[in-house]
Amino acid sequence: MRMSRYFLPVLKEDPAEAAIVSHRLMLRAGMIKQSSAGIYSWLPMGFKVLRKIEDIVHEEQQKAGHMPMLMPTIQSADLWRESGRYDDYGEEMLRIKDRHDRDMLFTPTAEELITDIFRSHVSSYKDLPLTLYQIQWKFRDERRPRFGVMRGREFYMKDGYNFDLTKEDALHAYNRHLVSYLRTYERMGLQAIPMRADSGPIGGDDTHEFLVLADTGESEVFYDSAVTDLTFGDREIDFDDKAQCQSIMEEFTTKYARTDETHDEAVFNEVPEERRRTARGIEVGQIFYFGTKYSDAMNAKVQGPDGKPVAVHMGSHGIGVSRLLGAIIEASHDDKGIIWPEGVTPYHAGIVNLKQGDEEADAACEQLYKELTAAGLEPLYDDRKERAGGKFATMDLIGLPWRITVGPRGLKNGVVELTSRKTGESTEMTPAEAVARVK
Ligand code: ATP
Ligand code: MG
Ligand code: MG
Ligand code: MG
Repeated sequence: MRMSRYFLPVLKEDPAEAAIVSHRLMLRAGMIKQSSAGIYSWLPMGFKVLRKIEDIVHEEQQKAGHMPMLMPTIQSADLWRESGRYDDYGEEMLRIKDRHDRDMLFTPTAEELITDIFRSHVSSYKDLPLTLYQIQWKFRDERRPRFGVMRGREFYMKDGYNFDLTKEDALHAYNRHLVSYLRTYERMGLQAIPMRADSGPIGGDDTHEFLVLADTGESEVFYDSAVTDLTFGDREIDFDDKAQCQSIMEEFTTKYARTDETHDEAVFNEVPEERRRTARGIEVGQIFYFGTKYSDAMNAKVQGPDGKPVAVHMGSHGIGVSRLLGAIIEASHDDKGIIWPEGVTPYHAGIVNLKQGDEEADAACEQLYKELTAAGLEPLYDDRKERAGGKFATMDLIGLPWRITVGPRGLKNGVVELTSRKTGESTEMTPAEAVARVK
């Protein structure tokens, strides 16, 4: 992409309405624009990162054997009356009437709709286990939408639903989700710690929230500092292997880590004092096992091996795809701007031409652009006729991992300058070496 053709409306001043750094930086970097309270347009740069995050979620879900699909955002109230949640959900639900005066709603989650799909098409235990998921816009009429995309009213969420014959199988699905989520967040450069949580209006007994530690987080959390030493890394996972998924689940959930809803002072006090931590966290996902809550209410049964009908065991599992942009920036920025982790960066490297219009500098930039592209990378070339200082400030603000600076003086010696956004370190090298380092 060439900056001269890009739509990147960066702001020079800090917007007054942004109370936290990720919101401020997303506005300043031209990623989003508010259209009304808690509802945003995603401008090209923001949309690009949103897609990168979405792609990682899709890849990891499909590795775990879960099937992507798509359900509508506007749903009939009837199914929600069947489960009893039409009344229970309260003011967070956006209720709509169509021209025939029928009650509709904008989906805040989709347990009812997926259960209806399931019961319409699956009738035998032989079709289980089954896990379906979607990445779709949700709407919750939050009392206090704030912090930009972190607490929007319209937000993008991955929601997945497992259907199993037995509790044991459903708990395997739970573990499978936990494992796949660990890998998903790590690929985004995030440490998201599974913590025991409360199930809220979804219902059920077993649930973990995934929290990114950050001072601006809305949850209060209590944990054993040893949990922050755990990393998932490059493990080979067989998602059908119940014992393997169970042991990873135990590895990551046995040490004390809870949100304030389930915090127990007496148990916490058994953690050695020097390892006890109280902090704030951002909820970036949650997994639930809720047994037959919906299948009983909505009569979702299959014929078991003995011919008798059994209500299926279910769980649901969410990732806050749009909230993740905010969480990643909260975890990775400095006073100049965003520092994108490699896994989600909108472009891999920025090319800064110090003397636009200089024949040699222009040609060297074009060549770099070509070579980076040929290497399968996406460069963002600042080809505008602007001061170098302004170009550097924009690159620092938008936070690409690498900047390649090209100018007539360096080119005389056959070199360009490669700068790491994270460390700020600059090294002179040939253009070919720079391409090889960015790869
Ligand atoms: P919160 O406690 O922050 O209100 P929740 O527990 O109500 O979130 P879930 O029903 O667990 O949310 O939804 C799954 C995920 O969707 C959450 O873990 C979170 O990352 C994301 N999410 C929920 N509400 C919002 C929102 N208003 N804006 C952006 N993301 C959200
Ligand atoms: Mg909520
Ligand atoms: Mg919550
Ligand atoms: Mg939750």
